[in-house]
Amino acid sequence: MNPPAEYTPEMVRQAADAIIAARPSYVKLITFYAHIFAAQEDARLRISLPPVHLSDELIRIKHREKLPLVMTSEMVIDPKASEDLLKELCRITVDCGSELAGAAQVLSGQSSKVTALFGPFLKAQESDILAGAEEMGVEPKTLAFFLYHSLRPSLCTCAVQLAPYLDSSPSGEQGYCPVCGSPPAIAWLEGEGQRYLFCSFCWHKWPVNRALCPFCGSREQQGLLYLYSEEEKEYRVDACESCRNYVKTVDTRVLARRCYPPLEHVASLHLDLKAAEAEYVASWPAQLPV
Ligand SMILES: [Zn+2]
Ligand SMILES: [Zn+2]
Repeated sequence: MNPPAEYTPEMVRQAADAIIAARPSYVKLITFYAHIFAAQEDARLRISLPPVHLSDELIRIKHREKLPLVMTSEMVIDPKASEDLLKELCRITVDCGSELAGAAQVLSGQSSKVTALFGPFLKAQESDILAGAEEMGVEPKTLAFFLYHSLRPSLCTCAVQLAPYLDSSPSGEQGYCPVCGSPPAIAWLEGEGQRYLFCSFCWHKWPVNRALCPFCGSREQQGLLYLYSEEEKEYRVDACESCRNYVKTVDTRVLARRCYPPLEHVASLHLDLKAAEAEYVASWPAQLPV
């Protein structure tokens, strides 16, 4: 039995409509990603994963050493659901006239070769991905895009299954995902100003201290910069002078619309450009295909 989904395909579509109304220049990009994310939320309903059991001793060590619960290579997936989703994502990509449409056509005709790379992708075996991309005649980063997005519903579901093993009193200083160890994609401010980070890989959400850099722990007030614009009160960039890393932050308290974290990441790419101009470094690849 899967845990209840926090988001539905309909919620993704509503979030996309609200973004497009506020930022018409994003219509093509958001329309494409709304289809991708809605298909993923739909796929989550059909995912079946074996339970992941971590021993008490292992959990004690992980908590003591502040290690993530698992490595990405240890996450479990539903291969059948991922293969079905791969075909659906290829169809969406062609229908949307994305710049990846040609590659999507190639990959949908060779889905068994793509699905054979799910394991190497999770293990970050770059040479296998490069060889597979060359054999199929697509760009490696395009192949990685389809591999990741086909697996994402499994990864999110696996993270939800693992989350109960986490320490109930987190340190609040962690700049990497406590479930899988990946860097954050985006930050969220909620309620009384509590700050959360979302994992760029499994989309687990964890609380962090607002007054310090999640990457290097710098606490100096003057060392943390906020790139901010009056026209977009809901978005800002939290950048650190010490380590030059940054994370985009969405202030959900001033956002009078439905939001879906991965879509907010796509809808704020202009902030990644701004941060890059100021020579800050993204914690994960900011470039997205259209
Ligand atoms: Zn994660
Ligand atoms: Zn820092």
